[in-house]
Amino acid sequence: MNTLIIGGGLTGLVAAERLAAAGITAPVLERESEPGGVCRSIEVDGFIFDHTGHLLHVARPETEAYLGELGIWDRLRVWRRSAAIVVGNHATPYPIQIHTHGLAAADRRDCLLGFIRAWATERGREPENFRDWVLERFGAGFAEHFFFPYNRKLYRAEPEELGLDWVGRYVPKPDLEEVVNGALGLHDEAVGYNAVFRYPATGGIRLLPDRVAERVPGLRTGAEVVRLNLAARWLELAGGERLAYETVIATIGLPGLLDMVLDELPAEVAEARKALRWVRVLNIALGVRGPAPVAEHWRYFPDPGVPYYRVGFPSNHGRLAPEGCHTVSVEISFDPGTGNVEAAAAEAEEALAGAGLVDPAAVEVRRLTMVDPAYVVFDHERRQAVSVLRRWLGSHDIRLSGRWAEWKYSAMEDAVLDGMAAARRVVKEAD
Ligand SMILES: Cc1cc2nc3c(=O)[nH]c(=O)nc-3n(C[C@H](O)[C@H](O)[C@H](O)COP(=O)(O)OP(=O)(O)OC[C@H]3O[C@@H](n4cnc5c(N)ncnc54)[C@H](O)[C@@H]3O)c2cc1C
Repeated sequence: MNTLIIGGGLTGLVAAERLAAAGITAPVLERESEPGGVCRSIEVDGFIFDHTGHLLHVARPETEAYLGELGIWDRLRVWRRSAAIVVGNHATPYPIQIHTHGLAAADRRDCLLGFIRAWATERGREPENFRDWVLERFGAGFAEHFFFPYNRKLYRAEPEELGLDWVGRYVPKPDLEEVVNGALGLHDEAVGYNAVFRYPATGGIRLLPDRVAERVPGLRTGAEVVRLNLAARWLELAGGERLAYETVIATIGLPGLLDMVLDELPAEVAEARKALRWVRVLNIALGVRGPAPVAEHWRYFPDPGVPYYRVGFPSNHGRLAPEGCHTVSVEISFDPGTGNVEAAAAEAEEALAGAGLVDPAAVEVRRLTMVDPAYVVFDHERRQAVSVLRRWLGSHDIRLSGRWAEWKYSAMEDAVLDGMAAARRVVKEAD
């Protein structure tokens, strides 16, 4: 079967690598000059930057086995997460649910009382949106001091606009005893899906896609797909080259994929396309002289008056900076297609300096990168829209695989598993 893979990020690379291992060469069409997608790292003057922090969480034995086969597993260092949440002038360890001890006394009281009231309140109907879910599970104090402002900043959406499909795995739920202990500073157990992470001992996260890419025979970089003719089953690259296919594994963002389709979209499909909602993320990567200002790996900033929602210090968990220097990775969320990026970066850098997190005079390297799409907004339209789009594209043998093609929230481990699953399906059909 003639299969083409659009996108040479982790998902597309793993799909191609698994197909190659099964004796099937599927060309991977990657628009950039190197593979890896959002898992690329770049080196500038001895500083190594990822596209925002990329920490590896491995929960499944098949992922560990695969990383072992690639010769990566032993090159990863294991870290226990050290992260903080900054509320007002107070930094307290993440997750806040079990660490209110670092907050101002009044904020701590709000969180504790709100949690106890929510815990003691008889449950009515099941919550249907993120707002009600947070209020029922964590109470009004945690909602107002962290969950609502943080998620507003990240998703650029009101909490009631968000559904619940994404929260289970990513938001740890404590019990009353844990919350009380957390208010008193008695809790130090690591909690949450990212309590422990792995990261290459040297170099950036690109070790992972690079190792996969070495084993992909049909990788074509600088090959941007610009048009897709579903009826005639060909796609066209920038430059005009046309490639025929029987099946496509698409790993690029769903809006971009649909926008290149030449065929007329049925009304239901066009509506579903319009319903897709997402944010872009600007990453300000800085290489700075001197030691890192804090020991944590990253900090969250829910305060609406602070321009960024997260600031990472990647050289606290990897050899990513020359001796005596460190790296800083700042994230700011934008709506698609709008916003003054340079002005937002300047405002963020001023705030970083004001907070004592970056000394502007010590900055050696500064890079701005926009990740687009970055986060899918899980609003109430998403599930139905994705189902319509998946069905329609599937009926034309376009299979969606990975975080942005499937329009979901997922991590690098999922990208590996998604790529494997996409390859298995092709192998099965070829038998
Ligand atoms: C801000 C942020 C932080 C994250 N942090 C973590 C983390 O800490 N840990 C973790 O496990 N995961 C993290 N992730 C998730 C992780 O990045 C993804 O799960 C993974 O990179 C998905 O890989 P992919 O191949 O599906 O997509 P991508 O990496 O986006 O790959 C798609 C590829 O398609 C190419 N492409 C696009 N359009 C075209 C076209 N028209 N023609 C040809 N090629 C095209 C792109 O250049 C890209 O290489 C994070 C994601 C974001 C946005």
